[in-house]
Amino acid sequence: MSRRRCCGLIDETIVCETFIPQGYSRWPEVIVQLEELEALRLKDKVGLDQVECAAAMGVSRATFQRILGAARSKIATALTEGRPIIIQGGNYTIKNRVFECIDCRHVWEVEPCSAGGKHGYEIDCPRCGSMKKRRLDKGQWGCGEENL
Ligand SMILES: [Zn+2]
Repeated sequence: MSRRRCCGLIDETIVCETFIPQGYSRWPEVIVQLEELEALRLKDKVGLDQVECAAAMGVSRATFQRILGAARSKIATALTEGRPIIIQGGNYTIKNRVFECIDCRHVWEVEPCSAGGKHGYEIDCPRCGSMKKRRLDKGQWGCGEENL
């Protein structure tokens, strides 16, 4: 698969979300990539036009059209055939987390947990050692080359 350079911002809470129909569900599950969900969100939920969507995701209109088409086809398949939907992967990575120390106002970045970074509760301020900090980047997704 070709790598795209950039992407839009997606809420962090959707990572590896799984939707399973109640009762009997058929397998295999449908894998929806994060970029496909983002395309669907921008076009069908937010209501942007295609030019705006493509710009927001940093891809060409043709590429956006292809991603959106794949997303709609997968979702339609899952809904009509009763298949679970799993949202994962694609060409997104989580941006480095950015923290601000409450005590000394130092601002620093920590790589995502998925790249070997510490969990949030383990992180102390590299300048003063305080555990009191706040996230400055909450819910934002960034550009990257690695798959999740
Ligand atoms: Zn500090």
